[in-house]
Amino acid sequence: MTSVSDDSPVDVEAFDVVVLGAGSAGETLAGELARGGLTVALVEAGLVGGECPYVACIPSKALLLAARQGREWKDAAQRRDDAAGGRDDADAAQALVDDGVELVRGRGRVVGARVVAVRPDRRDDAARRLTWHRALVVATGSQARLPPVDGLEALRDNGKIWTSDEALSSPDRPERLAVLGGGPVGCELAQVYAHFGSRVTLVETAPSLLAGESEWVGAAMAKVLRRNGIDVRVGTAADAVAPDGDAVRLSVSCGDGVIVDQVLVATGRSPRTADLGLDLLGIAPDPGDPLAVDARCRAEGLDANGPAGVVFAIGDVTGVAPFTHTANYQARLVAAQLRGAGRDGDYTGLPRAVYTHPAVFATGLTPAQAQDRGVAVRTARARLDQTARAFVEAAAGTLDDVPVDVCEVELVVDAATGVLVGASAVGPDADGWAGELALAVRARLEVAVLEDLVHAFPTWGEVIHLAARELAPR
Ligand SMILES: Cc1cc2nc3c(=O)[nH]c(=O)nc-3n(C[C@H](O)[C@H](O)[C@H](O)COP(=O)(O)OP(=O)(O)OC[C@H]3O[C@@H](n4cnc5c(N)ncnc54)[C@H](O)[C@@H]3O)c2cc1C
Repeated sequence: MTSVSDDSPVDVEAFDVVVLGAGSAGETLAGELARGGLTVALVEAGLVGGECPYVACIPSKALLLAARQGREWKDAAQRRDDAAGGRDDADAAQALVDDGVELVRGRGRVVGARVVAVRPDRRDDAARRLTWHRALVVATGSQARLPPVDGLEALRDNGKIWTSDEALSSPDRPERLAVLGGGPVGCELAQVYAHFGSRVTLVETAPSLLAGESEWVGAAMAKVLRRNGIDVRVGTAADAVAPDGDAVRLSVSCGDGVIVDQVLVATGRSPRTADLGLDLLGIAPDPGDPLAVDARCRAEGLDANGPAGVVFAIGDVTGVAPFTHTANYQARLVAAQLRGAGRDGDYTGLPRAVYTHPAVFATGLTPAQAQDRGVAVRTARARLDQTARAFVEAAAGTLDDVPVDVCEVELVVDAATGVLVGASAVGPDADGWAGELALAVRARLEVAVLEDLVHAFPTWGEVIHLAARELAPR
């Protein structure tokens, strides 16, 4: 780090790279660059690690697994908090410092062509100004979006409206819970709370759950959640929420409303682009829109030789695919680029997992997405109960809580080339064993190879062969 002066009373500290946000994306990138010898300032307004370790991936998976183990709520909530490290980022912060990263606590904002001002979050921290020689990286993540439902904003102030942040950190379990939104977060958290004894109503506006996936996947998830005792209402909009004594009355577009103790909003997230001063760099996404990037994660529409230099964006703020594995991948892409070995990102075969029991795993195109892109496809499905593994598991009693008849694999093959372009799976631990399908889609494998591949006996993966043989040339 070097120090240069500008007109402000605070010296401007100079780094090779300034990163805004130390979530999965920023933390991974900063550490990698610093270990590679670059000077890096990493600005973080909250906890080092961002959402994933404290209020997203890790605590939600800890609760889902504790539920599968049959634990009681109190024990499970304690294990969740242990997994989240007590929401203390001291170790993560120290690891970055050990790597040589300059960790700057506070909220960062661009205030000039190459200057970020950091407003400290603690009274004893000084305001700082940072500049970059090589690049600015925006890694500010996303935040839960409240849908336009009457009364929602007002009730948020009295603690009756949760987002996943509260649902994954609360010591309390509501007796009656309404979940708005049947995407991955809504489905996972509905299953968690139902498992620990809450009466759960899940309301989804789209005609099926997991709306971006193949229709049968959403239908399978609805059946699973109903088997868990959840009142699943698809094609139903939440109209209004209003206080009802100590409870909340939720009115919906069709059917009866419900009285609940808590409403959990899981209707999507907005990229965090507001108040970053990006307009000073010539980047001005509309509120709620992502920061558009090219295949190398460079902010679109910016001249790298202009006054701002190179500006990258990585993680949820890009809107590419809101997963920690995407954030980590984009961090790797930018690190490679800044070390002189840049390459275009390839999101073909990016995995999408829902960690319910049974789990969902999907990758590549659904048949509907292929059709939208004008790709003619052939599809085949095979049921997991055709495998020897299902027989063994059923005999052992491990499938007692799983509707096995909804557990299937679907393969989507380009009709012209025989190449696998997409796949979906619903089944116990599908997040693990179906992972080979992501590799197959990414490697643009012909389905004939999958058909010929030998899976160990007796594994769930044998079902992939059953679907592939329907599609492979004979
Ligand atoms: C309930 C839930 C469960 C999930 N489960 C999974 C899962 O199992 N697997 C998976 O892959 N993904 C999962 N995700 C998604 C995953 O959490 C996100 O994709 C990931 O955390 C995104 O990382 P990020 O670095 O882009 O953003 P974040 O983790 O949000 O980090 C951004 C950071 O930037 C900081 N920041 C923002 N503005 C400023 C500023 N101006 N100055 C300084 N700092 C700033 C914030 O404080 C934050 O720490 C889940 C999400 C949710 C909500």
